Amino acid sequence: MRISTRFTVLSVSITTLAALIALTAILLSEFNSRKAILNADIAARVAQGGEWARALHFSDVDGLQQELEVLLLSEPLLAGAASRNAAGDALQMVGNEPTLLPRPRTPNAEATSLSATTLKGPGAMRSAMIGGLELPYYYGISVPILSTVNPLTDIADAETYRVTAARNSTGARFVVGYVEVYAPLARLLIDLLPRANTLLVVVLILVVVAFLFVRSTVRRISRPMEQLATTADDISSGKIPRAINISGHRHDEIGDIANVLNGVIQGVHKMTAQLNVDRELMSLQVDSAKKQLSVAEAQVNQTRNRLKRVAYFDPVTSLPNRRLMLEQLNMLMLIAQREKRHLGVLVIDVENLRRVNESLGHEAGDSTLRTIASRLKDCLRSSDVVSVDDAPNDISRIGNNEFCAVLHGINETGDAIRTASRVYNTLSAPMEIQGASVAPVIKVGVAVAPEHGKRGEDLLRAADIAVTAARQRNLSEPLLFSRELDDAGSERFLLEADLRKANFDREFELHYQPQIDCDKGLVCGAEALIRWNHPKLGNVPPFKFIPIAEESGLIIDLGNWIIERAFADLADFRERRLDISKLSINISALQLTDELIDVVRNALTTHRLPADSIQLELTESLLVQDVDAVLTKLGILRNEVGVRLSVDDFGTGYSSLAYLAKFPLNELKVDRSFVVGMEADESAAKVTGAIIAMAKQLGLEIVVEGVDNPLQLQRLGEFGASVIQGFLFSRPLPKEALTSYIESQGWQDVLKSLD
Ligand code: C2E
Ligand code: CA
Ligand code: CA
Repeated sequence: MRISTRFTVLSVSITTLAALIALTAILLSEFNSRKAILNADIAARVAQGGEWARALHFSDVDGLQQELEVLLLSEPLLAGAASRNAAGDALQMVGNEPTLLPRPRTPNAEATSLSATTLKGPGAMRSAMIGGLELPYYYGISVPILSTVNPLTDIADAETYRVTAARNSTGARFVVGYVEVYAPLARLLIDLLPRANTLLVVVLILVVVAFLFVRSTVRRISRPMEQLATTADDISSGKIPRAINISGHRHDEIGDIANVLNGVIQGVHKMTAQLNVDRELMSLQVDSAKKQLSVAEAQVNQTRNRLKRVAYFDPVTSLPNRRLMLEQLNMLMLIAQREKRHLGVLVIDVENLRRVNESLGHEAGDSTLRTIASRLKDCLRSSDVVSVDDAPNDISRIGNNEFCAVLHGINETGDAIRTASRVYNTLSAPMEIQGASVAPVIKVGVAVAPEHGKRGEDLLRAADIAVTAARQRNLSEPLLFSRELDDAGSERFLLEADLRKANFDREFELHYQPQIDCDKGLVCGAEALIRWNHPKLGNVPPFKFIPIAEESGLIIDLGNWIIERAFADLADFRERRLDISKLSINISALQLTDELIDVVRNALTTHRLPADSIQLELTESLLVQDVDAVLTKLGILRNEVGVRLSVDDFGTGYSSLAYLAKFPLNELKVDRSFVVGMEADESAAKVTGAIIAMAKQLGLEIVVEGVDNPLQLQRLGEFGASVIQGFLFSRPLPKEALTSYIESQGWQDVLKSLD
């Protein structure tokens, strides 16, 4: 049961009980006053009836009956009436109640003193025993009859009695008997009923009013209480309301509780909001951490993939590079060997790539390469001639302008040649690059396993030799490798092939041969000389590979590499404060292009070198070709770029000094052949002396190279040549060795020995 219901029931019960008690009390007092009225009424009526005393005196039963009947009729509440004499004996009775039986009665106080007679009656007063308590059914009233006439006086008749009574009217009075009346209690109560009904209605109204009042009061209290309880429940179960609004309770305890709860709710809301913000922030942080992680992961993957690609794939064409190609080739050769089948290798050279690069730019060169790569793919993948069992053909880019295709699963050499021809024709077709029509100049070399090699490298080398020969012979068809090709110029072919794929940084090095000014006793310069440390052949001398580099056009790339390295080394020397006032760099005739001018200019800027610390050595033979073009370029180099120019190997060509005077030269290098001849032949010595003299006349500085003994040095000194380069002082030295040579002034010993 809810508190409000309980409270209502309790208060209504209490109200009802109180009302009932009040009702009972009122009824009781009503009842008593009714009895008192009845008493007074009966007493009055008895007093009015004048014949009571006389009839009693004479024991006039009829007269008593008459009087009793009158009395009984006068009061409807009465059920019976009786009269007794002074002794208490019942004399007469009237009434319609069968239960009214005379019974002995206790005489009242007034009577005892007057009469010793025992009244027998009124025995009619029946009673009921309820719970050990004797309750009467009737209300009895006993009224004494008084007379001034002594009852013991002997009076003759009624008339005399009246006279006597009148005479004694002021004397003593005697109780001469009693009149008793009986009113049934029930009748008395019924008589009260109308009044009781009114009271009952009042009580009921009271109870209802009390009920309504209590209920509304309870409601007014319990509603907000319930609201509070529900809110508390909600809060405890996590459902937080906005706020509780309890009208009419602003300033009482409920209002206080509501305020407290509202405070709690506000706190909870604040906390929840803070929590939400925190959670949001945290999830943001988690999100960004996740993002960073995935970015990092992507980067790691990217780097890994890139490394993989760099290691195994060509960045321009996305084809496998030489390394991956060789790995695959070796594997495919093993399979071919086991299956007793042939395997073909095509090396495809794009001869005019450099020209495309120069004329249209590197972008054009790259897209030429890409087009060729995709043509090659299409041409080989759709092959139905070569791939008998539809095995794939592997394509790779193995050099700057070289592709390689592996034809596996072929049955005979003829298959390889046929495929090579198709490749040649397909690749040679003109293509449009940046709006210009480019006709690739293609050379194809073919080698077939097992005839031309048992290992992948051998087979590739054979195809390299074949393509080199095709280039040399300027063939417009593929060339199949043969032993004759190998014998004819295998070393040369191989060197060219190796040079093509060489990693300059790894295989090449610059050595520096110091030039000593004997007059001043110091190093006045050095010449940079290239050294090739071939991975298989070891040290390959420049006279073997420089001509090959020149013929194959590789000298351009190699030359650029030399310039870059020499400039970097000079910058390094200068930083270490090594006194090398100029560094000479050999420039091949083929290198003298506009590109060279740019390369030199850029390298000067990059390494922050003064232009006149660089000297370019040009061979005499260069100066006799295309004089005007050469002059222009040299003019730019000397006057605009500001580098020094030297003519190398002077005397081996067909120029004269007078002719040389046209060129903006700084220095003349007397070739070693003069130095060698000088000792044996006095006339040769004279020529040397004359050259030196004339060069001086022309304002050229002179360096004599190839001086390897003191005698030569002495003679040259006599001719007035003081700057010497040769083994007498030092062989070309690696960079670090040159440093020590200069620091230890290694030339001093030689100079001292001369003195
Ligand atoms: P070169 O320019 O006449 O270089 C001088 C050559 O004579 C060098 O040979 C040098 O080592 C050698 N030499 C110097 N002093 C003596 C000596 O007292 N006795 C003897 N027997 N030889 C001496 P190297 O280094 O073998 O160079 C040979 C040629 O290769 C050079 O002749 C040059 O034409 C070419 N070369 C060398 N380095 C380069 C380079 O960086 N670029 C170009 N384009 N050509 C280079
Ligand atoms: Ca030289
Ligand atoms: Ca020389």
